[in-house]
Amino acid sequence: MNKQDIANVLRHRKTAPKTNYYRESLKELERIHQEFTDRKPRILVHACCAVCASWPIEFLSEHFDVTIYYNNSNIWPEEEYERRLGEVRRYIDAIEPDVKLIVTPYDNEAYTKRLEPMKDDPEGFGRCFFCYAVRMKEAYAYAAEHGYDYFTTVMSISRQKDSQKMNEVGISLSKLFPSVRYFRSDFKKGGGQERSKELAEEYGFYRQDYCGCIYSYEERKNRKDQ
Ligand code: SF4
Repeated sequence: MNKQDIANVLRHRKTAPKTNYYRESLKELERIHQEFTDRKPRILVHACCAVCASWPIEFLSEHFDVTIYYNNSNIWPEEEYERRLGEVRRYIDAIEPDVKLIVTPYDNEAYTKRLEPMKDDPEGFGRCFFCYAVRMKEAYAYAAEHGYDYFTTVMSISRQKDSQKMNEVGISLSKLFPSVRYFRSDFKKGGGQERSKELAEEYGFYRQDYCGCIYSYEERKNRKDQ
């Protein structure tokens, strides 16, 4: 993205009407309770780390049969990927034993090659939009192949991520995979951010200080060095 593209995105963010996806998630839950009277609907939830996933898992488990889908080849280096995955496992084992976990093969080399043309984008712009879409599409395709009722991602809990954009991606994927409904969300709202902090403290989750890819790692390092 050049400077003009970035300025356009910032202007759009400031001026475009925003959808309250938290309110939409509550309305969807009302519909779900009327429709699914004899079982909980199955939801596949893309998750990137325990800090982001803990509150969405707690919230969603009340209403859904939850499976976590950990496909995060964006994370560099591999030890960091394993560390975040280990924390997700620890949380599920300790707190939510009914939640299932699917882990896809890790291939950061191939993933980084796909991000490389956008390596100079600042975090939160074109490279990230691409990155949300790639991981969400892979997860959505899995949900469609395996007969899930719903799909969502926990990433809307992060203040560093564009939850409007993320929900737009989810909605467009629901048109590509119409057998699976997209569960609109903004997990940071409705007390989600606060509960997420409480859970992180309560269970002593490892808290990373960069988003995941090598470019976000370098951006963080450059900030620290300044
Ligand atoms: S900063 Fe995060 S969302 Fe953006 S490209 Fe890197 S890993 Fe993906």
